[in-house]
Amino acid sequence: MRRAAVIGYPVTHSLSPRLHGFWLKKYRIEGEYTAIEVTPDTLPEVLRGLGAKGFCGINVTVPHKETVIKFLDSIDEAARAIGAVNTITVRGGKLKGTNTDVYGFIENLRQNGFPRAKNKAVVLGAGGAARAVVKALTDEKFAKIMLVNRTTAKAEAIAKNSTGVEVMDWKDRAKTLSDTDLLVNTTTLGMQGKEPLALDLSTLPRQVVVNDLVYTPLITPLLAEAKARGNKTVDGLGMLIHQAVPAFEAWFGIRPVVDDDVRKQVLGD
Ligand code: NAP
Repeated sequence: MRRAAVIGYPVTHSLSPRLHGFWLKKYRIEGEYTAIEVTPDTLPEVLRGLGAKGFCGINVTVPHKETVIKFLDSIDEAARAIGAVNTITVRGGKLKGTNTDVYGFIENLRQNGFPRAKNKAVVLGAGGAARAVVKALTDEKFAKIMLVNRTTAKAEAIAKNSTGVEVMDWKDRAKTLSDTDLLVNTTTLGMQGKEPLALDLSTLPRQVVVNDLVYTPLITPLLAEAKARGNKTVDGLGMLIHQAVPAFEAWFGIRPVVDDDVRKQVLGD
């Protein structure tokens, strides 16, 4: 039986066991996907033991996405560009890291509403998720990416290593919406238990696609307001599901389909 798991600390909140478990059952694969709580000090030991325990792969979540890199045999271009790994494949005792968030973000937009033009995207936030979004939009050749973060220095650090990325002060965030094609929230604002995202959408044109990476709640206040104004909205659950597709295929040999059934399963409907 092929084994995979998500490691994190804490890890009980992860939706990945439900997602991969659904696909394992759907495609009748003899395998298992579990959640394993791994503290930072036990991380190297857990990684060393993966091959012997029959693991074909591992998802990595907070707080290990960056620290895990130094324990891997290799990482690919996406992981290197973002400086974080969310997926590890175990083959012949060797651990290879990648980051599937870039793929997951773009595929979710493609399936649910890609902007009509690629002249400008506004990205709120400059954490790990923002680095993946900026890489994806750069790969997609958006002419300009306006990066807006509370801590300006973090946005500037991303801009320095990217092409076509400009930085704007957090307090001015509403001023850059009137000529954008895409608005993406990658901050934790709007998440259950966090402060709401305060953003005046009054100048946002109707054709702008609004994507929130936050998926708890599924319809964030940002998405609800944008939808009420007539904008096309894309939720964060789709990215979570799409980023799991290449991992599942690498570990279990079948490329799973992203459809309403899997969304319902992950939501526990
Ligand atoms: P992170 O690295 O911790 O970054 C958090 C971001 O939120 C930073 O830009 C931070 O700004 C900003 N922020 C936090 N509190 C703020 C406040 N009070 N005011 C203004 N900005 C604030 O987290 P991450 O890994 O990038 O994840 C960010 C969000 O994306 C989370 O909700 C996560 O669940 C979601 N996500 C979703 C997917 C998906 O598949 N849908 C994938 C990845 C992440 P500072 O830099 O100023 O602290």
